[in-house]
Amino acid sequence: MEEKSTEITKTFFVRCRYCGQKNQVREDYKNNQAICGRCRLPLSNEPHKKFANLSKHDYIHPLDSRALAALRAIPGIDSALKKLLEITGESAIRVLFTASAIKVTPKQCPDLYAKLQVACTTLGVPMPELFIQQNPVANAFTGGVEKPIIVLHSSLIERLNDEEVLAVIAHEVGHIHAEHVLYLTAAQLIMAAAQIPLASLPIAGIIKELLTAAMRGALLAWMRRAELSCDRAALLVTQNPHVIGRTMMKLCGGTFASKVDYDLFLEQAREFQKNYDEKWLDKFWADVINAGLTHPFPVWRVSEILKWTESGEYERLLKTK
Ligand SMILES: [Zn+2]
Ligand SMILES: [Zn+2]
Repeated sequence: MEEKSTEITKTFFVRCRYCGQKNQVREDYKNNQAICGRCRLPLSNEPHKKFANLSKHDYIHPLDSRALAALRAIPGIDSALKKLLEITGESAIRVLFTASAIKVTPKQCPDLYAKLQVACTTLGVPMPELFIQQNPVANAFTGGVEKPIIVLHSSLIERLNDEEVLAVIAHEVGHIHAEHVLYLTAAQLIMAAAQIPLASLPIAGIIKELLTAAMRGALLAWMRRAELSCDRAALLVTQNPHVIGRTMMKLCGGTFASKVDYDLFLEQAREFQKNYDEKWLDKFWADVINAGLTHPFPVWRVSEILKWTESGEYERLLKTK
């Protein structure tokens, strides 16, 4: 006769390293990939660093600083942008999303709210508003200057796992921490106005009137490079470069049934870096801009994150900040 097991699985509490929630787990929780009941991120005993005094200068990508310096050197740019935002009115952005997207709160999509809190407490940023909008293009953005808001497209969060969603939210919070919002909002207005259905709106005329072609060009050139800084901010929150790498892999190829090999994707990123010397990179950036992309290519972003991790700079920030 079979003996019935009388052994009772022991349970105990583990505090979530990301959001601090106390979770009751079974002894074998690590093998079962238990997740936190609040933020849905994986539970573990590993520490998670929250930065006490992180400055944007600690992680800003040199290409971002250089492009920003070039942008700021254009006479009259700041007053032109202020005027543009006064006219277009950032309150309109909030009204638009409150009317057409889901606002994330402690009760609405609480796990997304908890992830936003994790990103904000890790980098030291006041909580912005977060919205989810139904949209087939996998994208996310931050807009507004006085009170910035973050918008995630539904197709983006549908494709990513919880750690990768944290990476995307952290990237957007990075734009706020890095004080990108004024230039970013202006650049997004230019991009929006350039789209055909919107071109007839008065905003397109206002932009042309207020901003010279040199200003518009410099803003868009800076915007792509600013992404590289915010990928670093995302790494400072996820504290795992492969979460960033896998997010980029999904942005690159989407999610489909065929098994995509992450190691081969990393190899592709390293190969990309090797084949592009400084001279070719200049040409590459020109291509990115001409292609009208809002973000630089994902493979390039992965190779940049790997380079930063391998430089030891990221480790140093974890230890000293
Ligand atoms: Zn948690
Ligand atoms: Zn971005």
